[in-house]
Amino acid sequence: MLSRRHVLSGAALGLLLPHFAAAKPHAHPKSTRSRHRPLVLIDPGHGGKDPGCIGASGTLEKHVALSAAQALRRHLLASGRYRVAMTRKSDVFIPLQGRVEIARRAGAALFISLHANASTDHRAHGTCVYRFAWRASDARAASMAKWENSAQRFENPALRGASRQVLHILATLMRRETQIHAAKLQAAMVKRFAAHLTMLPIPAPHARFAVLSAPDIPGVLVEMGFLTNKREEAMLRSPTHRDRMARSMRLAVDTYFATVAQPVRWRS
Ligand SMILES: [Zn+2]
Repeated sequence: MLSRRHVLSGAALGLLLPHFAAAKPHAHPKSTRSRHRPLVLIDPGHGGKDPGCIGASGTLEKHVALSAAQALRRHLLASGRYRVAMTRKSDVFIPLQGRVEIARRAGAALFISLHANASTDHRAHGTCVYRFAWRASDARAASMAKWENSAQRFENPALRGASRQVLHILATLMRRETQIHAAKLQAAMVKRFAAHLTMLPIPAPHARFAVLSAPDIPGVLVEMGFLTNKREEAMLRSPTHRDRMARSMRLAVDTYFATVAQPVRWRS
């Protein structure tokens, strides 16, 4: 059946993103195997001058995020199914838009941002997985400005003559597709986490996270737990606990790629 996805993935994406259509297994026969493994981009939150939140005992979010990202990287690579890249591998500051650009330039099929939560209520605890969505509370003008920007990203010589309306429609379709995909990863991850973690009352929320704003890369932002809660801070400091979380995330990524026939963006 020729679904909207096929139309979008084949024609529109090929037009918008020339690299997408460039799945040329014969062009580089020696690297065919690696070219067909999707790239998962792991994004450890914060870093450098930005410590993120500070835990009950002084643990910095940026360190927990990086350690968790390294654990996830190991699990994904051990599966042999994915290529993995990270927005940062050390304690450096990277602006949010820079992280999005890293993912887009690398041709990521999936984006996973790792964070830890904080609250003035030290009893607050639990895990949740966010995905991107335009907030209903956003000012219309602000949304439209952002929309304009996302459409401009796709401009290429083939579309130079296309009307802005066409670009808007294509960007809209692509972002909608991306959000549907992100929701699948989000649901799979929440299900895996719920088997061994306390989840927040709303375990799968959505918000307008700048770091998840790539219109063509499905992504989630994991709030792994509250550093301001002594128990969860201790858990997040534990390599065993982080390893267990990483395993759950890897299994969720497996589920995602098993259920999504054609990633929104899949290029080497
Ligand atoms: Zn954070």
